[in-house]
Amino acid sequence: MSDSVPRITEIRAIPLQEGPYDRPLNTARNHYTLIEVRTDAGITGIGSAYTSTDLVRAALGLLEPQYCGEVAIEPERLHEKLEQTNFWMGRGGTVTHTISGIDIALWDIFGQVTGQPIARLLGGYYRDRVKPYTSLSMSRGQMEADIEAALERGFTAFKLGWGPFGRTGNPADDEAIIKRARELIGDGEIMVDPGGSQQFWPHGYKWALRTAQMLADYGVIWLEEAVAPDDVEGYALLREHAPIMISGGEVLTRRQSFVPFFEAGAWDIVQPDCTKVGGITEAKHIA
Ligand SMILES: [Mg+2]
Repeated sequence: MSDSVPRITEIRAIPLQEGPYDRPLNTARNHYTLIEVRTDAGITGIGSAYTSTDLVRAALGLLEPQYCGEVAIEPERLHEKLEQTNFWMGRGGTVTHTISGIDIALWDIFGQVTGQPIARLLGGYYRDRVKPYTSLSMSRGQMEADIEAALERGFTAFKLGWGPFGRTGNPADDEAIIKRARELIGDGEIMVDPGGSQQFWPHGYKWALRTAQMLADYGVIWLEEAVAPDDVEGYALLREHAPIMISGGEVLTRRQSFVPFFEAGAWDIVQPDCTKVGGITEAKHIA
């Protein structure tokens, strides 16, 4: 093979933090990191990792001997090399989240070098339009204003999550939230993500089932992460008995973690997060 392919010279981590955005970097609010892969061809790829920048930098130090000088347009092979070589450093977690960001950046470089969209490089277009949904966190305490702003931007699908939902101890409060959202959204699509991956999430299958039954009355399309993220059995029961679709999987890393959920029939909709699971490459394996 010709050696005129771009090779990786450096990978940099760029911290992101949740707002307000005009303040100095606060490690407590730094949960995301942009990953910039530089090459000897002057092309730069950008990816992102759901992990604090301090941890990403530590992982980059571990991974550097394996990526430095590597071909920058073979994302699948390099991804597999990084995972296999660092297997003993803790499967999943920070190392896999960092590999995720590198993988996304490598697909970006591959697309730039070939002049093709990543969808085509992955095998081709099955559709040329997708409906986006807006994800509104109710933790902001301004659900009505957020819904109205999203309606004005033209959104017709809305995911509502976190905040007080499931946390006041009174199911009537949850119903009041959804009732109000339905009034504002009209015929638009509504999905609900209570945030069962939050620390000390108190609910299991029975709460989730009752909630799914209530949400069905308001035409909600799916219920996401309604039980703890590792509760395979709770998910499987919920999917069997709930009248609406059940989704989950965004906190899992590596394709192997998804297998027990698939075997149990845990989800109608699988939601691997490219910034955690191992990048675009691993999400494709899971698909
Ligand atoms: Mg979610």
